[in-house]
Amino acid sequence: MRTMPKAAFSPPSTVGHGSDMMPNHALVLSSGGIDSTTCLALAVAEHGAANVLSLSIYYGQKHRVELQAAHAVAQFYCIRQIEFDLSPVLRFSNCALLNGSSQSISHDSYGEQVAENGCRIATYVPFRNGLMLSAAASLAQSLYEQEPCTLYLGAHQDDAAGNAYADCSLPFLEHIGQAIQIGTYGNVRLAAPFAHCNKAAVVARGLELGAPYHLTWSCYEGGERPCGECATCRDRAAAFAANGVADPALARWTSKGLEGPR
Ligand SMILES: [Zn+2]
Repeated sequence: MRTMPKAAFSPPSTVGHGSDMMPNHALVLSSGGIDSTTCLALAVAEHGAANVLSLSIYYGQKHRVELQAAHAVAQFYCIRQIEFDLSPVLRFSNCALLNGSSQSISHDSYGEQVAENGCRIATYVPFRNGLMLSAAASLAQSLYEQEPCTLYLGAHQDDAAGNAYADCSLPFLEHIGQAIQIGTYGNVRLAAPFAHCNKAAVVARGLELGAPYHLTWSCYEGGERPCGECATCRDRAAAFAANGVADPALARWTSKGLEGPR
């Protein structure tokens, strides 16, 4: 099997900011969580806020709290945000994250779920990254036509561990990065800057960049505050703990007079 060089989905080493260069646009898939928010912070640092667009996808989630968080993050950086509704594509899925699903959201860790159920876990949304990246590449080509655009995705190696999320794996990112480049005449390239990082390393980078983590939402449940028990709440807490800092979003809930997650 041929494999693409890492450059097919790595961040650019140089980015055109000068007037003598073609503008290098950045389009960031933003879910309102900490991974994509770190990507957004990185894109703003590398491209300048004026060249960054945030794209958020409603795919039929049980709640819209994370999309509200994505909107708040875009406002923080004063960047344009676009939201697509791709929920009709997934209306036949019984994924636990989706409206109408008969499955409840597991409070086991990802590792426990993989050990119990095999590689495909209940919160795997069918080909979600493929769907979102395809929409994002089409949007980039529509907006910028022949100008270069870097498409940022916050996938990291913890999501791909045990093949829990197959569409976060390195082979997936390599090949869809190649497909996006070919299918856009080379104008759009995929950057997955954290593909080789764990979540703790993502948070470390975001803290360096001053990412607005206080505005983010990760919990799969859509309550008034994070549940503290679902797999993504657990991963998030571990990532901040590994960096020796308190999760600023939790401080926000506390300041609102709400209890933090258990
Ligand atoms: Zn949770």
